Amino acid sequence: MRRRGFTIASLSTVAIAAMGGGLALMGDSFGAGSPAHAAPQGAAATHLTYSGELTQGGWIRGTVPAGTKALSLDGQPVPVASDGAWFAAFDRDAGATAMLSMTAVDGSVTRQQIAVAPRAWHIENINIPRKPGGPTEAFMELRRPELARIQAARAMQTSAQGWREHFIWPVKGRISGRFGSQRIYRGEPGSYHSGIDITTGTSGTPFVAPADGVVILAAEKPFTLEGNLLMIDHGMGLNSAFLHCSQILVKEGDHVKQGQVIGKIGMTGRATGPHLHWSIKWEEARLDPLLFTGPMN
Ligand SMILES: [Zn+2]
Repeated sequence: MRRRGFTIASLSTVAIAAMGGGLALMGDSFGAGSPAHAAPQGAAATHLTYSGELTQGGWIRGTVPAGTKALSLDGQPVPVASDGAWFAAFDRDAGATAMLSMTAVDGSVTRQQIAVAPRAWHIENINIPRKPGGPTEAFMELRRPELARIQAARAMQTSAQGWREHFIWPVKGRISGRFGSQRIYRGEPGSYHSGIDITTGTSGTPFVAPADGVVILAAEKPFTLEGNLLMIDHGMGLNSAFLHCSQILVKEGDHVKQGQVIGKIGMTGRATGPHLHWSIKWEEARLDPLLFTGPMN
């Protein structure tokens, strides 16, 4: 349980700046009276700084001073790069506040409470019962090794640096499905949409890597649900998955650069038409790709 309002060093200054089409909050928890700022690039940070999309399905990036012993978000360890930079994120169903906790070089612990803005998810109430019964044993026989492979891919740690970047759209088109939307079947919630769907109206449209990364899964044959599945690790526990591809143009272990063509849109697996389903996860948190790219234009 978190204790509300428990902060050793309260926000001295808070600046709200428009960033990437959303609200970005930049806080400086140390040095009372000093203006809020992010550490200049290349210079050693002297404060805990952060900015991001502080909302459900959003992200937070920041820096810690040299020698910082540990950083955690709601008790979950947050890895810190050698230059003091870090990345963390807020699950689709994250609570209203999150606690950032930093153990300094001298062992002192500073806690910073972060307000996580709620989202109004698109909820559709449907007056039909949810499909009765679970998956068949025949289906699970196919499914188990696929799930194991996805899990193994997500467990891989690579040196990818994409987590530092502002993401770009893998492809532009019509957004045909939004992250987080959910159907409720006579009061029983179905699983929510875990990514964003982009359609160009056709199969075969190339799509690019939204950020630098390492290919951690490139299906040789279609998975039952995801079809030809491509997964890219962006480092620090952050990864992207691209579903239903007609073609995958990279192989496992490849290092890809932001903007590099990595596959082609299709409708393999469970899809009613050609589209790219793009999902992003940080550790176990499911995230909204729209909060990484800003609106499409
Ligand atoms: Zn989708």
